[in-house]
Amino acid sequence: MTTLSAKKVARVSLVKVFSAGLVGILFVFILLSYFTFTRLLSFESTLTDISNKSLPNLIQISQLYSQASKLLESTELLSKSSSDASKRLAEKQLQSNLMNIRNSAKEIFANEFLDTQINTISIELNEFSDLIEERLQTKNIIELLRTQAYELNLKAIDTERLNSSSWVLTFSQVSVNVSRVLNEKRLQRVRFSFNQLKEQLNELSAFSAEEQNNVAKRQLTEQFKTLLFSENGMESLKIQSLRLEGRALGRERFVHNLIVDYVTQLGFFTHQTELSITSQVASSVSKMKEQTQLIRLILIGGVVFLIAIVILFQQRILKRIGVFNQMLLSRSQGFDYQIELDGNDEITDLVETFNEFTQTIEIQKQKLEKLSMSDGLTGIANRRALDIRLEHDIELSVRQRSTVTILLMDIDCFKLYNDNYGHLAGDQCLKDVANVVCDSLQRDTDFVGRYGGEEFVCVLPGTDTQGAAEVAVNIIEKMRHKALPHIYSDVADYVTMSIGIATSKPTEVLTPETIIKRADTALYVAKNSGKNLYSIYS
Ligand code: GH3
Ligand code: MG
Ligand code: MG
Repeated sequence: MTTLSAKKVARVSLVKVFSAGLVGILFVFILLSYFTFTRLLSFESTLTDISNKSLPNLIQISQLYSQASKLLESTELLSKSSSDASKRLAEKQLQSNLMNIRNSAKEIFANEFLDTQINTISIELNEFSDLIEERLQTKNIIELLRTQAYELNLKAIDTERLNSSSWVLTFSQVSVNVSRVLNEKRLQRVRFSFNQLKEQLNELSAFSAEEQNNVAKRQLTEQFKTLLFSENGMESLKIQSLRLEGRALGRERFVHNLIVDYVTQLGFFTHQTELSITSQVASSVSKMKEQTQLIRLILIGGVVFLIAIVILFQQRILKRIGVFNQMLLSRSQGFDYQIELDGNDEITDLVETFNEFTQTIEIQKQKLEKLSMSDGLTGIANRRALDIRLEHDIELSVRQRSTVTILLMDIDCFKLYNDNYGHLAGDQCLKDVANVVCDSLQRDTDFVGRYGGEEFVCVLPGTDTQGAAEVAVNIIEKMRHKALPHIYSDVADYVTMSIGIATSKPTEVLTPETIIKRADTALYVAKNSGKNLYSIYS
């Protein structure tokens, strides 16, 4: 029988196990999807942040730097501007640079300090521009005076058209010196040169008294003096121009320094922005690494879980179903296969049900077999069982080199019994006789069966003719003791039997048919010899 230890083990429902397994797989899948998706989202947002904010910021910062250097160039241009047109151009450039810088800086840094700084630069630049304006105006007046000086010189030359007197020469010399002093850059030299010019003009005044046309010469000399030394004369304008020059230079340096300082501040904030971008990227990368690690762990866990489920499936279902199938096969082939099927689940339920089913079939089969082998009326073996047993015992006797003897018994005058006592009583009589024959047999190996009608056969293995004769006597005696009433019998007033004996021995082995035929022959002899006796085939 198949061994089932199912009852000893705690109940494990495969449906529950595999439902839990599937839910687990689903859970791992959802977990994996969730983490992967959220990580991708965070990655996407980081990249978007970098590409939409940080990278454009860096580009704008570099543009800011170039604007700042342009601001320096424009300041220099303004400083060098020698005409109104070039000054306006430089101012326009400056304004546009300033606006660009202010807007870009606001957009990138949103820093008040930088804004204040650019305002200061703007104010300083305006003042610088005013200075340049003033310088230009002074320069223009000086140029006007220079032209006037030149015209005076021409007039002076005109007074002495034919001969050049020392006055004219000196006048021309003074004119040349005026041009020279106007090109002078150092204040001290200018003062010195103008003092010299004053002396020369005084000399000229002295000369003019002695010369011809002295009135005209004196007037020209005086006009020259006024041109040079009046309140708004050339000397004071030149000195003012130099001072303005100096102030402009100082202002330019100041503005330059302010711009450089601004650029330094920009550098500082840019560095901070770069640091923030770098740390943003670094933290994002480290987060990504963590998440990747987590996803990897979940993946490994999921794979291990899946493998476990597959192994469980293989071990708990496929393998056991294989064993069960083997069991079914062996059972169907008639073997009683010993199978160890552990566990307590639906498969063991199936095996148990199958076992119960096969047991039921077995019982029914045995019942059927018993039914097919036994006689319905008397309950002893029938003709079929008798034939099988006889064949078996003869074969065994051949192998064991022993004898088999059979008794063929027939109730005497049974037709009369039936006719007189009735068929039902006849049936009862047959049962009683069968019991008497059964009781008469002493060995376990002895066998009795109903041969047909009112005939019975005893198969006595390992029994020779003599022994069989004793059994026959015993049966006849038992019938006499039983004394089943049969007053219509020709032989006695009770039921009697006649017996034919035949033996198969090692020296003469008989087939079942032959031994029966011989026993029948002997029975025939017994009947003819008066019945209620036995006869041995000879
Ligand atoms: P003999 O002494 O020569 O053997 O004569 P007999 O009357 O016994 O022999 P016969 O063959 O003429 O009759 C046998 C009878 O046995 C006929 C039949 O009615 C009866 N019989 C056979 N089988 C059964 C049975 O199952 N039940 C009953 N009640 N009678 C049966
Ligand atoms: Mg008969
Ligand atoms: Mg008879």
